[in-house]
Amino acid sequence: PRQMTKPKAKRWDHRLNTEAHSRTGNSLKQAARFLSTPGIISLGGGLPSSQFFPFDSLSIKVPAPGHFSESETYESGVTLHAGKHDLATDASIFDIATAFNYGQGTGSAQLLRFVTEHTEMCHDPPYGDWNCNLSIGSTSALDMAFRMFTQRGDVILSEEYTFVTAVETAAPMGVKVVGVKMDSEGLLPSALDEILSSWDENVRGAKKPFLLYTVPSGQNPTGATQGAERRRSIYKLAQKHDLYIIEDEPYYFLQMQPYTGAHQPPAPLPTSHAEFLASLVPSLLSMDTDGRVLRLDSFSKVLSPGARVGWITASNEVVEKYRMHADVSTQSPSGPMQLILFKLLEEHWGHGGYLDWLLHVRVEYTRRRDVILAACERYLPTSIVSWEPPMAGMFHWLRVNWRLHPSAGTKSITEIEEEIFMNNIENGTLLMRGSWFYADRDAEHDTMFFRATYAAAPFDKIEEGIRRFGESLRKSFKLEE
Ligand code: PMP
Ligand code: PLP
Repeated sequence: PRQMTKPKAKRWDHRLNTEAHSRTGNSLKQAARFLSTPGIISLGGGLPSSQFFPFDSLSIKVPAPGHFSESETYESGVTLHAGKHDLATDASIFDIATAFNYGQGTGSAQLLRFVTEHTEMCHDPPYGDWNCNLSIGSTSALDMAFRMFTQRGDVILSEEYTFVTAVETAAPMGVKVVGVKMDSEGLLPSALDEILSSWDENVRGAKKPFLLYTVPSGQNPTGATQGAERRRSIYKLAQKHDLYIIEDEPYYFLQMQPYTGAHQPPAPLPTSHAEFLASLVPSLLSMDTDGRVLRLDSFSKVLSPGARVGWITASNEVVEKYRMHADVSTQSPSGPMQLILFKLLEEHWGHGGYLDWLLHVRVEYTRRRDVILAACERYLPTSIVSWEPPMAGMFHWLRVNWRLHPSAGTKSITEIEEEIFMNNIENGTLLMRGSWFYADRDAEHDTMFFRATYAAAPFDKIEEGIRRFGESLRKSFKLEE
């Protein structure tokens, strides 16, 4: 009912593959709907009785709202309890007996409601029949999405440098990824249009691509964030070429404060939840009048990667196919984890408290980003390395002008990259090689990058790591400075 006035999503039957079309769901799970029949005695579903779950209660200590640091949580954190039969005693709407038993492919109704409300607050999709479904993280959701849309021989488009797991997920399905040129705002609409407009099946040996996999915020590995205008252009092109978009956004809430440089005062923090949400670049989902976006969200980067909980948002048609697949493979996320997240998000923090937490994470990442940028300015030879300040995510992407390398005339770009990488390891730091992230390893590449993350190392280690990287670059390039 909340969506009555909005238009309906387009149908995607022409994009879903035979496997997705063949899915009819898990017939055993469908019987669950009869359980709401008043007075029914279920001798139906093969669910074990909770009396055989050797778990009576669960306690987790978490931050009090607004007191988010590790030390504050240690000293004054709040302990949340979940009991086995909290539903029967009206203590909660979720308990161990329920959460630890079998559930539906949608994930638990309790946690699903929270993420659906959160999605409505953050993205308010402009069509009516959208829905969310819990996932066991975006890695799995992406694997399932590729299995819904692609067939052997298909080509997917993505950023030229991309999250390699996506390439490695697609490859065994017989699906190749073709990279689209990028700039500091990520995927270039002109390059996307050019590839699609000039696509020749006979030359390319594949049908014109119809699936775009993109990471719009703090892209892995480049750290690039598409601005609002960029996103609108990409969406328009998707309409023009009838692309279906997979929007993979694990770093959406790692959008940081604007970078003001070492000598300027920091930008003021958002003073309300509304201001915070307004400061975020609008998502493709928020522009999705056609229902052509499958958005992947994940708690991995903002709560815990080991939780293995995320969610997808798309039109009912697509969510339904996803859920039918989940019913026969992943089922729901782990019950104990769903219960833990429900306790924290719904019963303890609520939506406002969760947004406060996300703002806390934003502030912490901003500090880390500023530390790595200050170190780069201090220690890196700018005659050969250049960068843009990342606006989101956890990666700093450093461009190396390899043509200035003493062996540029005799060695390949790959050999030089390898040499710099190994020099750097010998010098005591690990940065990732840019070439590991090519969407298409067979294509020609003439740019060299290294990826550094500021997510985890202590500040002094970030600084020392960058100092060592500068030192090994000077050695490789035989620089005096
Ligand atoms: N295989 C068989 C034969 C089963 O009966 C069941 C549970 N009904 C399963 C697999 C599913 O097991 P799991 O809960 O570990 O996914
Ligand atoms: N997508 C991108 C672009 C990522 O960088 C990552 C994590 O590295 C993931 C997905 C994985 O997310 P999850 O932990 O939810 O599977």
